[in-house]
Amino acid sequence: MNALRIHIHHESPDAFVASLEKRLPDCELVCWRSDEDFLRGLPEAEVILAHRPPRGQWARASRLRLLQMSGAGVDTLLPAPDLLPGVRIANARGIHGAHMSEFALAMILAFEKRLPTWREHQQKREWVYHGMGTLAGKTLGILGLGAIGREVARVGGALGMRVIGTQRTPKPVDGVESVLPPERTADVLRQSDFVVVLLPLTAETRGLLNADMLACLPRHAVLVNLARGGIVDEAALAGALRERRLRGAALDVFEREPLPAESPLWDLPNAILTPHVSGWFPGYADGVAEILGENLARLETGEPLRNEVDPARGY
Ligand code: NDP
Repeated sequence: MNALRIHIHHESPDAFVASLEKRLPDCELVCWRSDEDFLRGLPEAEVILAHRPPRGQWARASRLRLLQMSGAGVDTLLPAPDLLPGVRIANARGIHGAHMSEFALAMILAFEKRLPTWREHQQKREWVYHGMGTLAGKTLGILGLGAIGREVARVGGALGMRVIGTQRTPKPVDGVESVLPPERTADVLRQSDFVVVLLPLTAETRGLLNADMLACLPRHAVLVNLARGGIVDEAALAGALRERRLRGAALDVFEREPLPAESPLWDLPNAILTPHVSGWFPGYADGVAEILGENLARLETGEPLRNEVDPARGY
């Protein structure tokens, strides 16, 4: 019997190849190093591990059974109306929580303990005092209490923060005082000292944090977006930060990536920008290989996939 072939389409495939070789030694791995390789190989592929696959080509993938995405967000894939019925899609949710909750906390503490200010004084050899806040008793709002959001909630709660947030279908979450539906997002914003955005980018969340929503945040609030740039109106956010209608923002994701050099966000002293790195950690590829290995087994037994994505819902 021929070995099962896994096609990999990723801009940095080496770590995935190494992890898959370890976890699935009986599989044959084929790297598509360009979009041309992808297009050429698509009609033959049964299993694909992808990050940002080219759009509009799926009708040619007539043998495709499993599309395993290497990240948690599937907005790089969906909507994909040309995917043939029966193709199963899974994502990598569930592996990012520990790392991203530390990252969110690092950003929150950077503001609360004024790290950029101390650094600025240090560079000028200035011995200057400022007051600092404490997180205990402050309200942490989490938009999207999913796999990552729940970890952020746990970490915030451990530091004595009051945690509230949203889910598409609200369910009780340990340590979270109230879990509200999407239509109560503005209520969460109004009550929050810190807001962490961990929503998927879908038709429902695109542009959700527009100028009106951002205006619901108290002036002293800090917005941390680790999800997707398309959820926040960047021009409105830049305006609010410039005019100090908002204390600060930590942004890991942007409408256009890399963030264009002319973006006004670069120059804002009250913004901390990082280049879409909050989700990456050592061992990432091992985590994805584990999910893919489990999903290959489930494909054979007909069980639901781990992290099965619902294309209609968009995540
Ligand atoms: P999950 O699917 O586990 O969680 C998503 C959460 O968002 C769920 O609780 C879901 O609600 C909720 N949600 C969906 N739509 C809405 C809505 N309209 N209003 C309110 N809540 C909503 O995903 P993860 O936690 O793993 O990841 C979240 C996102 O973070 C990813 O989609 C991705 O875009 C981003 N990400 C960014 C990374 C980076 O490097 N910066 C790395 C990893 C992820 P419900 O529980 O009801 O389904």
